[in-house]
Order: sequence, then structure tokens, then C-alpha cells
Amino acid sequence: MIKQPAHIENIPAYKPGKSTVDGWDGPVYKLSSNENPYPPLPSVIQAITDAASTMHRYPNMAAPELTAALAQRLGVKESELAFGTGSVEVAGQLIRAFAGHGDEVMYAWRSFEAYPILVRGAGATPVEVPLTADHRHDLPAMLAAITPATKVIFICTPNNPTGTAVGHEELRAFLAQVPPHVLVVIDEAYVHFQSDPDAARGLELYREFPNVAVLHTFSKAYGLAALRLGYTVARPEVMEGLAKVALPFGVTDIAQAAGVASLLAEPELQARIDVLLEERAKLEAYLATTDWDAPASQANFVWLAAGEETDALQAHLMSRGIIGRAFSGTGIRISVGSPEANEALVEALGSYNRGLF
Ligand code: PMP
Repeated sequence: MIKQPAHIENIPAYKPGKSTVDGWDGPVYKLSSNENPYPPLPSVIQAITDAASTMHRYPNMAAPELTAALAQRLGVKESELAFGTGSVEVAGQLIRAFAGHGDEVMYAWRSFEAYPILVRGAGATPVEVPLTADHRHDLPAMLAAITPATKVIFICTPNNPTGTAVGHEELRAFLAQVPPHVLVVIDEAYVHFQSDPDAARGLELYREFPNVAVLHTFSKAYGLAALRLGYTVARPEVMEGLAKVALPFGVTDIAQAAGVASLLAEPELQARIDVLLEERAKLEAYLATTDWDAPASQANFVWLAAGEETDALQAHLMSRGIIGRAFSGTGIRISVGSPEANEALVEALGSYNRGLF
């Protein structure tokens, strides 16, 4: 019988957020995957449709138009950009390229659930450093956990699922102390929702520290989750490693065309982000009137550290058609949705009786 090797056997498979609710015939609000509630813009759909006519050919792996447009937008060199099928795949490539058996990959916990899967899949050892009591990265503890085996460190800011951002100066001081041979991946999947001027700005830190790779995605603020388009900004040494482990032809021409069209449509997309930020502020104003432990969010979701009450709260929300992402015993992450979804969420939270469970 075929058998998984030891390092794969114990990996818990990634479980996507739920998208249906049993026994509820009212409106269902899927707030479990931090998606953009808005559908793609007409100009983006047009670009996708146009690109579809060449689907009998493999995509251009160099992604020339997208690379040129994004390099200009970010003010980086074209050679400093690499794309993948979602930033999760780029994260996997970074791990596979720079860590193997016997190496350690560090990240805060709780953070993005894909990290342990990617690290273990690469045969490396995950080192999870607990967040502080106020749900933030514990950078001193992370520094203290560095060993000679540490090869990659992930800093997820704003952090999924807690929404907390690492401070810019705090991260700068951290980077100054990380050995230069350790790759630090600043995962900024939610950076476009960041409003705190003191929050870390990965692209600036990347310019200062050659061992930094910044990870961005088109899935969230740009609303292209299903097209699977993410990228890293990193130095040529990093690019050389990535080129060896990247999936050939992973990024489709459709995704590339949609990426270019999205960059052209940034003012329209920004208007949508602004609405989501207003909705986040409204949700947070409501949460401040409750006794939920809900840290201020710099992302497009809020975190309710419901602890032991998590399952009961999740069941209550589900019974009202609201699907959040529950981590049993810890908390629920709820995406900021449309104004209607957020009103339904506030109503559902308001009708939950704490302590009855
Ligand atoms: N990083 C973080 C922190 C995330 O939360 C996610 C998506 N949930 C990703 C990366 C991956 O996003 P994608 O693969 O869609 O680009």
C-alpha cells in the first residue's frame, strides 16, 4: 500500500471557509474567506474575455505586461517581481527555495493557516511563536527563537486572523537584528486595507534590508480571488531560488490580463476599498460598545477572540446566515462585507446571549 512519508502524514489538510448554511432560508453572507464583496469591474471582465481567445496556448511565463505595469506602479525594478498562482503559492515557493529538511521556518501563531502546511510540505520544521495577549506579533520572542537552523521568518502584517499590524519602526528594529542570511517574508496580503500610518510598510523595509521579500496578492483588495494571482517583490538572489521551484505556466494569461486591467482601474477599486474601510469602522464602533475582545483591525476582517465561546457564537451566527471563520477555542474571524452583510452581522451579534453557553 502506498504510504505518506512521516513529514507529510501529520499535516492537517487546509480547510477552506464554509460557503453554505443548513436549515436557513434567509440571505446568506459568506464572510469566511476575506473576499472582496464586489464582483470584478466591467473593464476587468472585458480583459478576461479578451484573453480567453488564446487559451489554446500556454501562458507567457514572463508576464511582460503585468510585470511592466506593476513595476511602474510600485516603483520597483521588473527583475524584482515574481508572480505565482496566488500569494499562497509564492509563499510555498519561497519556503521550498530557501528551507528544506533540518531547517526551521518561523512565524507567529496564530497566523495564516497555510504556513504550517507549506513548511511541513517542504520537509522543514515549523517554529510557531505565540502572539502577545493583545493578539500582536511578539517580535522580541521571535528574535529569541532564532537558531542556526532558522532559514525563513514570516511576518504576516496585517495578521490573519487577528487584523493587527506590526509597527513600522518595531519591524525595522527587528529586521536590523535578524541575521542577514535569514529570509524575512513580509506577508502583506491585506496591506491595501491598512490605514494606520505607523503600521509597517514592507516595500520601504525591502529597500533597506536585502533579506526581505514582500508578498502581495490580487485576491483581496483587487477582488480577483478566483484568478489566483499573487507576487513577491524581492532581490535577484531570491528570484534565482524561486525560478527553480516555481510551477511552470502557473499564472494564466487570463490572470495576467486581469491584473493589468485592475492596475488601470485602481481609482475605481480604491473607491470600493474606501467603502469597506467605512464599514470596518462602523463594525469596530459597534464592537467597542460590547465586551467582546476584538482588536483594532488593519485588514478587511475583524477578529472576535471568543475563546471557549467560539463554537457557540459560530453556531448562533450560522443560524442567522452569517458564515465567519471559526477557530475552535480561540475565536472567529469575520470578513468586512457589504453594508447589508455588516448590518446583519451586528444584529446577529446583538441577539447573542453571552455566558449562556
Ligand atoms: N497571505 C495571507 C496572510 C492570507 O490571508 C492569504 C489568503 N487567505 C494569502 C496569503 C493567500 O492569498 P492568495 O493565495 O489568494 O493570494
